[in-house]
Amino acid sequence: MAITRDFLIWLSTKPSLTRPIARTGMRLGFARRFIAGETLEEALRVAADLNARGMLVVMNQLGEHVHSREEAEGSYATYERILREMAARKIAGTITIKPTQLGLEFAPDLCRDLTCRLAAQAQALGNMVEIDMEHSAISGVTVDLFEHVRNAYPNVALAVQSYLRRTQSDLKRLEPFHPKIRLVKGAYNEPPEVAFQEKREVDQSYANLLDTLFANGFFPAVATHDEALLDHARTLARERGLRPDQWEVQMLLGVRRDLQEKLVRDGVQMRVYVTFGTEWVPYFMRRLAERPANVGFVVRSLLKGR
Ligand SMILES: Cc1cc2nc3c(=O)[nH]c(=O)nc-3n(C[C@H](O)[C@H](O)[C@H](O)COP(=O)(O)OP(=O)(O)OC[C@H]3O[C@@H](n4cnc5c(N)ncnc54)[C@H](O)[C@@H]3O)c2cc1C
Repeated sequence: MAITRDFLIWLSTKPSLTRPIARTGMRLGFARRFIAGETLEEALRVAADLNARGMLVVMNQLGEHVHSREEAEGSYATYERILREMAARKIAGTITIKPTQLGLEFAPDLCRDLTCRLAAQAQALGNMVEIDMEHSAISGVTVDLFEHVRNAYPNVALAVQSYLRRTQSDLKRLEPFHPKIRLVKGAYNEPPEVAFQEKREVDQSYANLLDTLFANGFFPAVATHDEALLDHARTLARERGLRPDQWEVQMLLGVRRDLQEKLVRDGVQMRVYVTFGTEWVPYFMRRLAERPANVGFVVRSLLKGR
């Protein structure tokens, strides 16, 4: 199982191998379970449909290989447009950015500037900007970025990963801001020096971090499909007497749709992560890696498509 996961994550970094998959994925439809489409228009339609079913959204444009200032500014322009279109169509939701899309790795000043501008634009529209957490080599600078933007704008949130050993101390540092924190397990391959390797350890760390979020004045965004951890979060929310608008659950488009519907029926604030764009294969591969059984439905779809 671990070998399949490692292979799929490795494959997700090899565009020359994944391009043929990309060419057929949208045509045959198997990619649409996890990706809203290749265009913003398609993503907005999916978002409106989720809203109609009682769910909020968090919108993300795919694309992880940005190498120039022009490309970073292009990503900024897309997010700016997403904010405007969401407002115009009254879509209930936020956006989330990957700092590398805005140039964090080669132009940190530009990334800070673009993120601040998005936060300002979101603020003017009564919206919010969430920041994804990427691979561990940039965890520290991502927390720095969040702190920088949060000093000027209250409407910014950050994702943190329970597989990283450093996350409890990051939360200690962020506690004075009382921010919205999206807690995830973590989706990248990380070495043992920085990350827990055993599922049991990652899950235990997630439970401990939930305790911290609910006890210390954060707005917890519980981003997992793990039912035991969701039960733990719901117990914490009940014990603290939190209203449904004081915490939320986040899940990925196409993953545990049954559970998403059930949480809505139970009155839990549910937000679905909606991704779109042409560079969807690395994201898609990570979803397959999380549950190699998903590979089965891709293979079936490919065979049907012949
Ligand atoms: C809203 C949201 C935002 C995220 N943002 C980030 C981020 O910024 N940075 C980051 O590193 N990671 C992010 N992730 C991904 C996250 O780190 C995990 O890789 C992913 O959520 C799977 O872990 P899990 O918590 O669901 O637990 P797991 O232990 O992986 O899964 C628990 C159960 O959920 C179900 N499940 C999980 N994944 C799938 C799947 N693909 N298909 C079908 N069933 C599945 C299965 O029933 C499984 O038993 C995000 C996840 C979510 C939900």
